[in-house]
Amino acid sequence: MALQSTMMNYALTPVHFLERAGRYFPKVEIVSLLPDRTLHRTTYGEFHRRARSLAAGLQAAGLRRGDRVATLMWNHYAHLEAYLGIPAAGGVIHPLNLRLHLDDLAYIANHAEDRFLIVDDALLPLAEQVRSRVKFDRVFVAPLSGASVPSGYEDYEAMLKAAPADFSYPDFDENEPLGMCYTSGTTGRPRGVVYSHRSTTIHTYNITLLGGMTITNRDVVCACVPMFHVNAWGMPYACTMIGAKQVFLGPHLDPVTVLDTFEREQVTCSAGVPTVWLGVLDLLDREPGRWKLQPELRLVIGGSAAPEAMIRGFDRHGINVIHAWGMTETSPTCTFAVLKRGMEKLPEDEQYAYRSKQGIPHPFVDLRVRGADGEVPPDGKTMGEIQVSGPYVTSRYYAMEPDPEKFTPDGWLRTGDVGVVDDEGFVKLTDRTKDLIKSGGEWISSVDLENEIMGHPAVAEAAVIAVPDPKWDERPLAVVVLKPGAQATATEINKFLEGKFAKWWLPDGYAFIDEIPRTSTGKFLKSALRERFAVSYGAESRRGGQR
Ligand code: ADP
Repeated sequence: MALQSTMMNYALTPVHFLERAGRYFPKVEIVSLLPDRTLHRTTYGEFHRRARSLAAGLQAAGLRRGDRVATLMWNHYAHLEAYLGIPAAGGVIHPLNLRLHLDDLAYIANHAEDRFLIVDDALLPLAEQVRSRVKFDRVFVAPLSGASVPSGYEDYEAMLKAAPADFSYPDFDENEPLGMCYTSGTTGRPRGVVYSHRSTTIHTYNITLLGGMTITNRDVVCACVPMFHVNAWGMPYACTMIGAKQVFLGPHLDPVTVLDTFEREQVTCSAGVPTVWLGVLDLLDREPGRWKLQPELRLVIGGSAAPEAMIRGFDRHGINVIHAWGMTETSPTCTFAVLKRGMEKLPEDEQYAYRSKQGIPHPFVDLRVRGADGEVPPDGKTMGEIQVSGPYVTSRYYAMEPDPEKFTPDGWLRTGDVGVVDDEGFVKLTDRTKDLIKSGGEWISSVDLENEIMGHPAVAEAAVIAVPDPKWDERPLAVVVLKPGAQATATEINKFLEGKFAKWWLPDGYAFIDEIPRTSTGKFLKSALRERFAVSYGAESRRGGQR
């Protein structure tokens, strides 16, 4: 008979993290700045008790195995309870992105067949609207403000209090669903992804232990990414697993609150999209020395490309940036850009060039870059589509027809991101497929251009889009937001770019506007810019530089 392993068959589940935190880190703090700006402090000991009560309460309320429980909540302790308590009951947590349009929210909740909803009392007006379009069986309100729960709703705290004390966990199969997220719809109708206990466990391991975040139980972690945006990139699970202090900011992601909180709570690790950090860096530049930050503070930046100027900018303040890439479909983190041993001896510019790439894939993430003729050479120049596979990469979308545009016949996810790979295995994203600019049959990277433009001292933000051109098919147009009080003309910015790119890459036009429209997760909404400038481009660009 073939030799069998003697190892136990032990299910990989984040519910284990809940028990571990309660048992070994009961005094470690969980700090939340609530929607009304009240500061709330609790501990893993209390969290452990309450998350188990939530699980028991949900079961008593009729939750069945695999039922979806939606959350409409900001970042705080009660959302963390939901992150662990819902799966502990055998349910599936489905955080709803409260910044989406009501039509999308209703579509997503109906499509996912969300059965229960837990909502912050500060979000009741939104919940009321969603409820008019989605039939939930039960709706629980977390009374964070201390006000009583209005009639027609159930009280989350009362559910926890009344929960049976004799709760025991179901027997989990690690492949059971644990959570759901929908893509935010930047590229069409939102699509659902279902995470399993196993996939979330492995993802948690990866982000906790790798050179990127390297979270230990001595860290203080403040996720500056909403818990409805791909599970705050896995940080709540990672901190719970390892016993790190957690700090939540509710809806308050303005730079002053972020920096005040970092100082007060002694934050050592944070993460978020570039938009959040643009404001923080600007404030640090304007008021250097105002905040006493931890020397080991590091920021994981992803969701869209972190411009090199931003990485250099934070370095000036002694804050280390780690650039990361991922997507809803990949749980999300797939790559970190951390210098390999020996790279710290390279000239500074080369080090920054590596650090502003998206990095190398995590263990268990297979990554390939495919061009028209198969895998592209690792020359850092030839572009292709990035494809990934692995235990926390989705193999399909929930309740949708198989989509050959998104999945290859040999089982890889087509990310829709275009990039190059170098001989160190570092991937660099040059675009999303639909954002690429095709000029005279050649590709121009909008991301490369906008990152350079954002390095100009007068520029706060820049997005580069394709506009139709009778001769070249498409040409790049740079849409620029200048820093308050700063001046720069199209000619000056073009001069700044000269020598950094081939001449034909340089934008033909510049449009100066006050604000770049954002997606619900804080990324540049290029489709809106394309709509706006496809027609009026000529007129707007002639105003170049006149604000
Ligand atoms: P959506 O697809 O709805 O915008 P996601 O949050 O899942 O929502 O977005 C994933 C996409 O975000 C990736 O496919 C990629 O295009 C972009 N992205 C994520 N991280 C980075 C990064 N570090 N650099 C450039 N683009 C990034």
